[in-house]
Amino acid sequence: MKIKNIEAMQIFDSRGNPTVKTTVELECGISGSASVPSGASTGRYEAYELRDGTKDYFGKSVLQAVGHVNTEIKEALVGKYADEQCEIDQIMIKSDGSENKANFGANAILSVSLAAARAAANAYELSLYRYIGGISGITLPIPMMNILNGGAHAANNVDIQEFMIMPYGAKSFAHAMQMCTEIYHSLGRILKEDDFSTTVGDEGGFAPNFDSDTRALDYIVRAIEYAEYQPGKDVFIALDAAVSDWYRDGVYTLPKRETSLSRDEMIDYFVSLKAKYPIISIEDPLSETDFEGFALITKEMRGTQIVGDDLFVTNERRLDRGISEHAANAILIKPNQIGTLTETINTVRLARRNGYNTVMSHRSGETEDTSIADIAVALNCTQIKTGAPCRSERVAKYNRLLEIERELGCAGAYGKRN
Ligand code: PGA
Ligand code: ZN
Repeated sequence: MKIKNIEAMQIFDSRGNPTVKTTVELECGISGSASVPSGASTGRYEAYELRDGTKDYFGKSVLQAVGHVNTEIKEALVGKYADEQCEIDQIMIKSDGSENKANFGANAILSVSLAAARAAANAYELSLYRYIGGISGITLPIPMMNILNGGAHAANNVDIQEFMIMPYGAKSFAHAMQMCTEIYHSLGRILKEDDFSTTVGDEGGFAPNFDSDTRALDYIVRAIEYAEYQPGKDVFIALDAAVSDWYRDGVYTLPKRETSLSRDEMIDYFVSLKAKYPIISIEDPLSETDFEGFALITKEMRGTQIVGDDLFVTNERRLDRGISEHAANAILIKPNQIGTLTETINTVRLARRNGYNTVMSHRSGETEDTSIADIAVALNCTQIKTGAPCRSERVAKYNRLLEIERELGCAGAYGKRN
């Protein structure tokens, strides 16, 4: 299990931007690799993603992060045991020395953290989910599947960033995938019939040139019915409003129009959408700075899952504050927001102890790395959002979950049952 070598290189993500891939090699000759994703609507409180800022790749190259892995991080970790995850992550956090991993970059640190876990899992001849979760990591998460994109992820006039479907009526993860893909194809067909574009956004959802959020919701309800499922019974709708970018000096300016709303008007807007459509979950309905507003909307919309993404940024301390202020009732889990596997595990544990739902998540810039599928099962996250059933970097995670479901057999539990 002793680490013999660590080597990083610059690869590309699904948007064609540079990102970090790292391989950790053990003395026994076994190795493990991991690549890190990157967001577009990045939260202000996320761990720091180190980019070079030079003229190459419009500032986006990650050669400094790669360099930190290949020098300081390697020096600090060679000879340490790959299966001592907590120690490995602590050493990196300490050697980085900053509050938010700004020196080495969270992209550098996460790539090593995950690659060490993979190397250890390989050395034990275990799947990553089994290595991390043991025999109690058995949950197949309910997909929160993106089918229509707006906001910062699409060049249309839809304000809300992500429209997703949740197949609560599914009997298994495989069945959930059948329902979601049928609805996705139904949406494609009716968009085409109505002469709308069926090009897709960053996460694979369609990005038709709609003029409003309600138009998008109308089409999603139609698509669910077209696939012969019942909206509000078999399938519900989840939104990621991702409104942090809309907020300035106490007002929310909708990104695709001239309208400005107060916090109360924003809450009323979501309440009115919920009254008309089978919406079961809303992510980031208010600004990442507004714990008080999150507490208000969680209370006002009792029975709706309110998910903190930019609000919590997978950070134990921010979640702890949310718990004490009753802000939100679910947390999005993005390992690259916090930067190590250990901290990701700790945040999920804190959420579970306090009755918060946990939603594992991809980023809008992804790679073929499927670690989040294994981590979701290992940590018993009951939901996962990893895009549309389109674009292989998204589908790879769903396919990995299908494999895990098969491997777990009768031991596996589809999210709802937990
Ligand atoms: P991002 O979007 O990866 O661009 O931040 C995903 C999300 O907001 O959940
Ligand atoms: Zn989000």
